[in-house]
Amino acid sequence: MTFPSPVSYTDLMGGISEILFSAEQIQARVLELGAAISRDYVGCRPLLVGVLKGVFPFMADLARAITIPVEVDFMAIASYSAESRQHGAVRIQKDLDSAIGGRHVLFVEDVVDTGLTLNYVLRNLRSRDPATLQVCAMFDKGTRRLVRTPIHYKGFDLPDRFVVGYGLDYRELYRNLPFVGLLKADVLHPDEHTKKGSSK
Ligand code: 5GP
Repeated sequence: MTFPSPVSYTDLMGGISEILFSAEQIQARVLELGAAISRDYVGCRPLLVGVLKGVFPFMADLARAITIPVEVDFMAIASYSAESRQHGAVRIQKDLDSAIGGRHVLFVEDVVDTGLTLNYVLRNLRSRDPATLQVCAMFDKGTRRLVRTPIHYKGFDLPDRFVVGYGLDYRELYRNLPFVGLLKADVLHPDEHTKKGSSK
């Protein structure tokens, strides 16, 4: 038997064991990032580029926190096998709509973990000759990094834990939570808990 799927918002919230960053903390930090980007890119009309789906709340909030003209574009990528993923290889499922040659591109990321995805995407974007290419990441799991990746604008450091909320999912759920938190162990590992429970 598996843990029953959440069917209500209360069920969803019931799966969270701890809130790491509240909605208020996130919104305040996004405003600071937006202010810094607005200062640094004045006169540049930057293009914000994000990878779907996890980045959608951060991209929406960040774009609205930026007080200079910006454009927004998205890519969608899929990992190949676990083996090829170790080399950072991903398949582009949806490419950017716009050409980025000569543009000031700011790559916006939800969370940088091993850095493999970011590294691959940056190499791909760099090959298209943008005028500049910088990175803004809301969350950084620095201790998990396998490849060195630049992060020019950073929201918060995260511990080496699996988190959900603010765009980040577990089996496609929890993306719509306005905060970032940890899942209860019985949500992440339902079978183990069912077995333990039934042996008592
Ligand atoms: P990386 O290639 O840096 O290892 O992985 C980055 C991607 O892994 C993120 O864009 C995100 O989709 C996913 N990811 C990494 N850590 C977490 C996490 O704690 N929670 C969730 N839901 N996704 C994560």
